[in-house]
Amino acid sequence: MTGIMAGKVALVTGGSSGIGRAAASALAREGARVVVADMNVEGGKNTVHLIEKAGGQAVFVKTDVSKPAEVEQMVNNAIAHYGRLDCAFNNAGILGDMATTVDCTEENWDRVTNIHLKGVWLCMKYEIQRMLQQGGGAIVNTSSIAGLVGLKTAPAYVASKHGIIGLTKAAAIEYARSGIRVNSVCPGYIETPMLGFQPSEDSALKKKMTALHPLGRLGTPEEVGEAVVWLCSDAASFITGHALAVDGGYVAH
Ligand code: NAD
Repeated sequence: MTGIMAGKVALVTGGSSGIGRAAASALAREGARVVVADMNVEGGKNTVHLIEKAGGQAVFVKTDVSKPAEVEQMVNNAIAHYGRLDCAFNNAGILGDMATTVDCTEENWDRVTNIHLKGVWLCMKYEIQRMLQQGGGAIVNTSSIAGLVGLKTAPAYVASKHGIIGLTKAAAIEYARSGIRVNSVCPGYIETPMLGFQPSEDSALKKKMTALHPLGRLGTPEEVGEAVVWLCSDAASFITGHALAVDGGYVAH
């Protein structure tokens, strides 16, 4: 395969759907061999099928990113399949329940923060160990516009997405001299199953969300995927510790 990711091995968590699937497909299109990790087996196999149908290489590894042993095994499996790990997109996530700070339950707090904050930390913990052995690598973590500004009725989501930006910066400065770059992407509202809209839906809520973006529309998973490929690639060689908004201008006002 030719392309800006030729010869590289990339790991994508949350690769069974939405942004993760789009990023996995774009990384494969650019020549990377891709390890698709997710809890959702059927979706993961579909992502691998889509990549192979387009002429790329991918393998699925069932993983719950909030479980330390599974994350360690995920990285070991990536190495067992493809012999190395150059890039990782730590993207698995859930919205959790919509409730105010007062009404947020402990169960929801733990579930959301375990997947986002603990999950991204665990992924980096094992990915970076391997990248240090290889002498470099590039990591992108999925934060959100909710990592840059507050949103109502999602305290655990907002806190964990802000935390992902902090974790990203901490790891970026820890491992910069080891050739490992660590950045995050902060998507605006992106049309994926997480938002729960049908593509053709024209509801009041969708219109309200759309209006929040100066570009006048919601984003596509592919638009986030392209930013991820770029941050993973050598084209972004002097960029580390950055939180890149891919948000149609949402946080600009
Ligand atoms: P999605 O629901 O389409 O995909 C999320 C994927 O993560 C699913 O395949 C799901 O199975 C997987 N996942 C969930 N928990 C997991 C776990 N514990 N271990 C492994 N995999 C797990 O949603 P999406 O919109 O593609 O979301 C991807 C990321 O983007 C999330 O981190 C989300 O918070 C973030 N994000 C999404 C939007 C948006 O508007 N869609 C905006 C900002 C940020």
